[in-house]
Amino acid sequence: MTAPERKLRLGRSASTTDPGRKRRQNEDAFVARPPIFAIADGMGGARAGEIASELAAGALKDANMDGGGAELVKRLVQEANRRVHERAASDPSTSGMGTTMTIALIEPSGELTFGHVGDSRAYMLRDGRLEQLTDDHSLVAELVRRGELSARDAEVHPQRSVITRALGTDPDVDVDTFTWQPEDGDVYLICSDGLSDMVAGDAIEEILRQNRDDLDAAARALVKAANRSGGDDNITAVLFEMVEGDPAPVEADERTREFTMPQPEEDDADTLHPEGDAVVAAPLANDTMVVPVADIQAAVAQERRPVESHDREAGLGRRLLALLVIVVLIAIIVVLVWQGLAR
Ligand code: MN
Repeated sequence: MTAPERKLRLGRSASTTDPGRKRRQNEDAFVARPPIFAIADGMGGARAGEIASELAAGALKDANMDGGGAELVKRLVQEANRRVHERAASDPSTSGMGTTMTIALIEPSGELTFGHVGDSRAYMLRDGRLEQLTDDHSLVAELVRRGELSARDAEVHPQRSVITRALGTDPDVDVDTFTWQPEDGDVYLICSDGLSDMVAGDAIEEILRQNRDDLDAAARALVKAANRSGGDDNITAVLFEMVEGDPAPVEADERTREFTMPQPEEDDADTLHPEGDAVVAAPLANDTMVVPVADIQAAVAQERRPVESHDREAGLGRRLLALLVIVVLIAIIVVLVWQGLAR
C-alpha cells in the first residue's frame, strides 16, 4: 500500500515591523497576504525610501495571480520594479530611490517559490536548525563569494549596506528565483537587514526555537533582540509555518507598517525609540545604497556614496530645522519672561 500523498499547507503566520532605535522613519514594508509573503526595504533620501517600499508592496497586493511558479514570482517583482522605477523617473523628489524585495509564494502544490532582489533575506528553521535560503545581492556578499573578504569581516564591513541590485533603479530587474520543498513544521522567516545585521544567525535560530509555538512572540522577540543590539535600522520580520494537511481557509493579513507599530511593552525600555530628539537623527554610515555589480571595484576604490550623500543633506535639513525650533522656543521664553518682569 502506498502512503497517501501528504500535502503541505500554510499554518500560522505573524509579521511585525519596527523603526528601530536610530531612524525616525520606517522604510520597510511587508505583505502577509497568503499565498504571498514578502518584504521590501526601501532606500533614498527624504521619504523616498518609504515611497519605494510601499509602491513595491502595493504592487504585490494588487497583483493578478494567474499562473504560478518562478514565472509568476518574476512577473510580480517586475511589476513592483516598474512602479518604483516609473515614479522615480517622473517625480524628481524620489529620483534614485529603490527597494529590496524578498518574496515567498505558496503554490497550490504546497511547494514554495522564492523571489529575491537585494539584501533582505529568507531563512528556514527546520528541526531546530536555521538555514539562510537567499544569497545577498550586496557588495560584501559579492566580495565573500569572490574570496576577497571573509564572512566574519563582511559582518562588520563599513560598506555592508551597499547592495548590488534593487528594484526601481532600472526599467528591468534581474530576479533570483528558486523553488523549495517544505517539510511539516518548517518555519520561514523573511526579514530586512535591520534584523540580520543586528542579530547573528545563531541568535535568530535560538529565538525561533524558543518561540516555536507562538510566531507572534517570535516576531516580537526578534525585533527586541535587534533593538537591544542597537536597532541601527528599521526591523521587519515576516514568519510563517508550513504544516501537513488539507488546505484550510487562512485569514488574510493585509496590514502594512501603518497598522503594525507594536505597542511598547510596559516593562520593556528596549523598544523605545529616541524619536523626540531630532538632533541625534543624523545620517548613519550604513545607509543603504545601490551599486551595480560591475562597479563594485570602483565603488570600493572610490567609496562612492550617492545615496548617502543624499541622506546627508536630508540629515542636515533635519538638524537645521531642529535648531530653528530651539531658537524660536528660546525667543518665546525670553519674551514671556521679559513681559513678566516688565509687568
Ligand atoms: Mn534596511
